[in-house]
Amino acid sequence: MSSSGKLAIEGGAPVRREPLPQEWCGAHYMDQEEVDAAVRVCKSKTLFRYYGLDLRNEVSKLEREFASYLGVKHALAVSSGTAALQVSLGALGIGPGDEVLVPGYFWVATVGAVVRAGAIPILVDCDDTFSMDPLDAARKITTRTKAILVVHMGGVIGRIKDLVELARRHELRVIEDCAQACGASQHGVKAGSWGDMAIFSFQMNKHMTSGEGGMVVTNDPRLYDRSFAVHDLGYPRNAAGRLVFDDPATQLWGIGCRMSELTGAVARVQLGKLDRITRAMRFAKNRIKQGLADLFSFREVLDPEGDGGSFLMTVFPAREQSLRFTEALRAEGIVAARDGLYPVHMDQWGLHIYYHVTSLVNKRGISAVSPWELAENRASADVSYAKGACPRLDDLLSRTMLMCVASVLTDKDVDDIITAYRKVGTAIHE
Ligand SMILES: *Cc1c(COP(=O)(O)O)cnc(C)c1O
Repeated sequence: MSSSGKLAIEGGAPVRREPLPQEWCGAHYMDQEEVDAAVRVCKSKTLFRYYGLDLRNEVSKLEREFASYLGVKHALAVSSGTAALQVSLGALGIGPGDEVLVPGYFWVATVGAVVRAGAIPILVDCDDTFSMDPLDAARKITTRTKAILVVHMGGVIGRIKDLVELARRHELRVIEDCAQACGASQHGVKAGSWGDMAIFSFQMNKHMTSGEGGMVVTNDPRLYDRSFAVHDLGYPRNAAGRLVFDDPATQLWGIGCRMSELTGAVARVQLGKLDRITRAMRFAKNRIKQGLADLFSFREVLDPEGDGGSFLMTVFPAREQSLRFTEALRAEGIVAARDGLYPVHMDQWGLHIYYHVTSLVNKRGISAVSPWELAENRASADVSYAKGACPRLDDLLSRTMLMCVASVLTDKDVDDIITAYRKVGTAIHE
């Protein structure tokens, strides 16, 4: 195969014919260990974390191991990342009358949690890291702002230090949505240990997975107690597992999003593999970037050594080029197996982009009265979520291609990706 020659899209020979491995980073690493963990729990006949015939405390152990991995005091396992977001907002007491700063590039669950809490999400534009721009965040702060919900998309952390400092100056809370950044770091500080609270997801498409599952972490014991109450029955439990009813600060309403022992046991095995998984993706991604640095521009990554590695974003000078490149690269056989979702042009990236979320653009709630119609939110209700609300992000998305970096790429896969990029890139630059 040569890097020159006729493009496959014009009838030439493609760089490769085998599809690339799919995303689903953690799933590729599953083996007998996860099987044994699941069997161990089933044999105990105790799939509930707080009591049973032969309680093995898998979820409690996962929480301790996860907290120790991150270097935080408290970790609370829940049933999903979406639930973890709801729990953290509940712990912080965020609701009607409050504004929460969110980025325009997120996952629908991020903004959905704010809306379901009855608060108003306020969009913040991005910078070249594709994460929140601290300068725009500062401009969006009002007397009603309660928290900054930072999202580390695609395994990369943006200007988190500046965002945390901004929040401290204005006495705002910081929640990190680390659903896509488990195991990522920046200059040695792990995702999830910067803010007041952080959430993780162990859904199928995340760095480590138990199919479904999530985690809430914090160093604050009060926020932990409130999180606990919200995740369970509305009250904390004492050391003996009995509910505690006499503390007004933790008399809440539970949403019943506990993690099962089955999930906990599998997630413990995956946590043990997390650094191997992210190392593989980071290594492949950085090798691809280095092999293309003379021809291409990529998303700004402040610390490539801490990159979670799961996604590569290639930024082109203009939209036309990015669309043509995406199509031509796919024709060269640089496409993920099965339904071939990746690579994908970023403004076609569904519920990851604010203006594609019609419930947001049209200000829907989950009951007849939406948060935007509540008297408490009157001062915030005029905000727009239509395309144009984040002009810098809109511009970047219009000329960026997103590719997943599978956790099991071989040296040959990486070489083929570089070869195909160069072949198409050279043709398009001519
Ligand atoms: C996946 C994801 C979530 C939600 O996690 P689930 O476990 O799927 O509920 C939240 N935020 C981001 C950024 C995500 O990628």
